[in-house]
Parts: sequence; C-alpha cells; structure tokens
Amino acid sequence: MFKEEVLDRFLRYAVIDTMSDASRADKIHPSTPGQWDLLRLLEKELKELGLEDVNLDEHGYLLARVPANKEGLPCIAFSSHVDTASDVMGNGVKPRVVRNYEGGDIKLNSKYTIFASENPELESYIGSDIVVSDGNTLLGSDDKSGISEIMTAVSYIVKHPEIVHGEIEVLFSPDEETGFGMDFFDTSRLHCRSLYTMDGGTRYVIESECFNAASVKVHFEGVSYHLGAARGRMVNALTMCSAYVNALPQAESPEATDGRYGYYCAHEVKGTASSLDLEILLRDFDFDRLQERIKALKSLAKTMELLYKGGKISVKSSISYRNMAQASANDPKALEAVFEAGKALGQPLVTELIRGGTDGARIAESGIACPNIYAGGHNMHSRFEWVGVDAMNDASLLIVEIVRQWAK
Ligand SMILES: [Zn+2]
Repeated sequence: MFKEEVLDRFLRYAVIDTMSDASRADKIHPSTPGQWDLLRLLEKELKELGLEDVNLDEHGYLLARVPANKEGLPCIAFSSHVDTASDVMGNGVKPRVVRNYEGGDIKLNSKYTIFASENPELESYIGSDIVVSDGNTLLGSDDKSGISEIMTAVSYIVKHPEIVHGEIEVLFSPDEETGFGMDFFDTSRLHCRSLYTMDGGTRYVIESECFNAASVKVHFEGVSYHLGAARGRMVNALTMCSAYVNALPQAESPEATDGRYGYYCAHEVKGTASSLDLEILLRDFDFDRLQERIKALKSLAKTMELLYKGGKISVKSSISYRNMAQASANDPKALEAVFEAGKALGQPLVTELIRGGTDGARIAESGIACPNIYAGGHNMHSRFEWVGVDAMNDASLLIVEIVRQWAK
C-alpha cells in the first residue's frame, strides 16, 4: 500500500549529505551542516501535511504533532535520526533500486558485490524491490528508512480522519551516530507516554532492551627517574597499565560474549611511561552488575597501587546510558500495542536484545517507554547496506496499526 510513497521518500532523503562528525558533536550540534538540509526539508513537508507545533530548534531537534481527533486517548511518538554514520563515506549517496530482485548476488560496481551467501535475508525479498548504494558509500537506510516510514505513515493518518487517534508526536533528531544524539534535547518538550524509535534493522524485529553503559577513565601516574639510575625508584605507568588491562577477565570482553552477557573493553590508551590515561567501556544488561564492574575497577586500582609502590591510579566513571527495559516494564502497553498491531497485520514480530544503545535509551531515562522498531535495513554502516522496499512498507503499516491499537 505504501511501497511507492515510502520508496520515493527514501530516494529523496538518501541523496542529502547528512554524515555526522563525532569529533565535533559535543560542541556543534548538529555536527555537520548537511543535517540541517534534511531537517529543513522535513520541517517543510510536515508543515505541508498540516501538522501542528512544527518546531525545529537551534540544536536540530525537529518536533511536530498530529492533534488528537478524539479526547482522552494517550499521546504516543515516533522518532528517527537524520544523520548517517561515518564508518565508510556517508555523503554523496547514489541509491539504486534493484527492481523485481531475482535472487543471487547483487553487483554494486566493478569492485564490490553483495553476496547472497552472506545475506540469507535477501531470499525473502525475491520478486520485490531492493535499494542498494553504488558501492562507494553507505546507503543511509540507518536511519532514512525510519524517517521515510514515519513520514509515509503520518501522511496517511492525516489524510484519513476516520482513523481514531490521540495526539501523535514526530521527533527527528541529529547526530545519533556520534553518541551525542540526545545530549541537547529537553525531554520535557515531549507530551508522549511511549515513544517508538524506528531505528532497528531486520524486518519484524522489535527491541525493548539495551545495555547499561559506563565509561571509566583510569589515570596512571608513574614515578620518573633517569633510566640509568632508575633501580628501585622508577615506577613505569605503562607497566602498571598493562598489568591492569591484563587483569580484566578475558571471558568478559566484547569478542568473547554475546546474548545477555556483559563485558569490560579496554578502549583507548594515551600517554607515556610517566603518565597515562586509559579508557575502559563497560556494558551490562543488569545495572547492579554494571555497578559491580565499576567497583571491581576501583578496587583493582587500589591493589595495583600496592603492587607498584609509589605509582598512583585514579578511577573516574560515568554512566553513558541505561537499559530502557525498566521503562518498558513500567508501561507494558507500549510493547503490547506493537505486538497486537503485528497480530492484526499478520506480521510475525519477534523481540531481540540490543547489544548497544539507542536514542530511545536516553529518553527512557525520563520514564517514557521507548521500544525500537525495525526500519528494515541490513549491513548498516557499510557500503554493502541494503533495504527491501517491502520492509519499509511493512514498517509504515505497523506505525499506522500501532496508532489504531492505542485508540482501543
Ligand atoms: Zn540508527
């Protein structure tokens, strides 16, 4: 039903250069000027659709509302991000539509091919249309698929007043890929009780749990002496640091864990034998366990100080984001509405864990349930990214049906 519109929107949004820049995002937000181009286009289109309170603020958060057409119904929101990743080139995207995909490999250019053997999901799109890049850039399905799906669904809802609904909010945000996506957003601007991020991947996958995340900065202060006269006096910060990193349990590293297991990850080190900074990333689905990991790093620092007499180690931790499962547990209706909608449409929805965070996780801290819904893309952040038009169509249908479910 939405195939043509959602594809048309996707192709228009995909060619706008919105690659974000993590090195600037803590200071300049949005971090790149191209994101404004897409935000202003969406602002214009939302106004043309007749939405109310269309507001694009100075940090690039675009919020708009479809007014309720019946009183007493809860407000819900749909959100996605305008920026694209920078893991490979995210600007200059030239999307190509593979019409009536016949199966088999998809050649992107003379150098790169999407192999069917590595992409088993391709099979379910045989006979339908798929969008790919020209192999020189990523595609930007993450998250322009989400934007296209929301815009298409909202445009349908405003043109069909017979669909009874409460207030619907639409939020488009910048810089999600930089980790600073929600840093400048005031969640008190939202009216919604539940917010759905359309930022997942594979069709029919719903995510309602993500990691709790902390960043731990460990500072090692050695004792310097002339190396020829160092015996018994010098303390080497590098030696302390390597002993510290080696003490982290190898079985609890990103490369050794999956599913529900958390980890320690030594992420960055900068410094010399006299002074050195180490950053460790911590992830766990259980917040208490995350706190225990922080405690372990602090007590390990104390032990190392005793082992390397004269050396000093300080540990500072900060929570980056929290598991959004709590907010969903407090408001079960948020997920119920999704699964009821899936049932009504015959979509076989499944839940999966996010071994990462989402913009929704930051909003969930304020108590708003924020499940993450599939946007349909595959191989995100890579030149091999692709999205099935059927998946985007299904996601738009799901949005409309979720709106209907909340009116019941
Ligand atoms: Zn995304």
